[in-house]
Amino acid sequence: MSNPDPDPPSPRGAGDTTLAALGAHMAPCRNTTPEQLAQLIDAHLGDLRQEQPNWTISSSKVAGRGVFATRDIAAGELIFQERALVTGPTARKGQLSSCICCHETLPQKGFLCRHRCTLPVCESCADSEEHQAECEHFRRWQPMDADAEGEQEQVNPLSLRILTAVRVFHLGKEQRHLVDAMQANAERAYRREIIKAAQCFRNFPTTDRVFMDQLFRIVGVLNTNAFEAPCRTGGHETLLRGLFPLTAIMNHECTPNASHYFENGRLAVVRAARDIPRGGEITTTYTKILWGNLTRNIFLKMTKHFACDCARCHDNTENGTYLSALFCREQGCRGLVIPVQTRTLQPDWRCITCENVFPHAKMAKYQDFALNTINNRINSCSVQDMIHFINELCPRFCPSSNYVLIEAKLNVIWRMTRFDREEYSPEEMGHMDRYREEVLAILHKLGAGECTLKKLITGEIQ
Ligand SMILES: [Zn+2]
Ligand SMILES: [Zn+2]
Ligand SMILES: [Zn+2]
Ligand SMILES: [Zn+2]
Repeated sequence: MSNPDPDPPSPRGAGDTTLAALGAHMAPCRNTTPEQLAQLIDAHLGDLRQEQPNWTISSSKVAGRGVFATRDIAAGELIFQERALVTGPTARKGQLSSCICCHETLPQKGFLCRHRCTLPVCESCADSEEHQAECEHFRRWQPMDADAEGEQEQVNPLSLRILTAVRVFHLGKEQRHLVDAMQANAERAYRREIIKAAQCFRNFPTTDRVFMDQLFRIVGVLNTNAFEAPCRTGGHETLLRGLFPLTAIMNHECTPNASHYFENGRLAVVRAARDIPRGGEITTTYTKILWGNLTRNIFLKMTKHFACDCARCHDNTENGTYLSALFCREQGCRGLVIPVQTRTLQPDWRCITCENVFPHAKMAKYQDFALNTINNRINSCSVQDMIHFINELCPRFCPSSNYVLIEAKLNVIWRMTRFDREEYSPEEMGHMDRYREEVLAILHKLGAGECTLKKLITGEIQ
């Protein structure tokens, strides 16, 4: 499943949200009308453009513009496919040791480009046409690390992060127009990202205003729109940072009516998760579908600068899934406690059994405790220990409906079916099947339809 590109600036208080706040953050899109944008998208889709698309781009009540159904679309139906306009490394921890061109794992030594651009690239890609322009670009800027003779070579995540933006400068004219037409949050954090990257070079053109303005906008477009798309090569998985303009135009809904997934990090496939009526807005999610109300909205606020107003966000039981529920702190009561108010980041919490009310600060601490305890186990336990922990220990401090516990169960499912494939006992397989049924039941309650998570769990997509 793809993750939205996180880059959290400081959050402001709750309530000052939605369209006004969103508008204030949007850098202008160079006056592109929906029609012009549609033309640029058509050119970008190329041979993947359908004769009679079941979608169109138009202005949206949710935010700016969006993608809409031109006719009734049935659940499961293909809406569109698109190739990445540009991809690059996420440059996150644990994602530094792959070739920036072919994404194969690099050897322990001698993994930096032999032409001394200081980028991690394999022997054969170093001389490829694909790498040539960016290699020259980086060398022109004179990376500091290039003369660290004899020192241990290492990848610099700051200069690696700017690579995707550099690649945008080498796109064709029409493709550049499309990038210009995309929306961008003008966050101060993005400027810091550029300044930090500039410090990695001796000859970064910081005094070239035109270039710096363009770079700032491109970094904004990437941070606002890029997806993290898994790419599998030679038995290992890398996360790529990819710009998929049409997929990015779709607006957010917490239980969206369309699902998207990526094939080899470079192709986005979007299908209807539910039936979508003609004229209906086609939506996707920028968060994880199983996160609770509060967690989703804190994430949206920090990374996308808006508060969601969808039906799910207005229901404190979340269609009866109780994904945010915690145990009551009252002696002798083991009832479920859920937020009273919706659409605020600091709600009161009330027990549905004894009706006691607890302040948000207290429950937030409790939620953090559950999150940290469970995440520590996920990072350190074998599958067997994880199953024991989920079944025997978690029920003591965390309701089975809480999303953190659900994520732990998902972790067991992924490890048993994808990553730690080994022999498991029939009993262990039984537990996994039970977790799977549980997650599918929650997705059903949420009305998620044929969502990406369901397809992943049932093995319909890899
Ligand atoms: Zn390579
Ligand atoms: Zn190079
Ligand atoms: Zn929502
Ligand atoms: Zn209670």
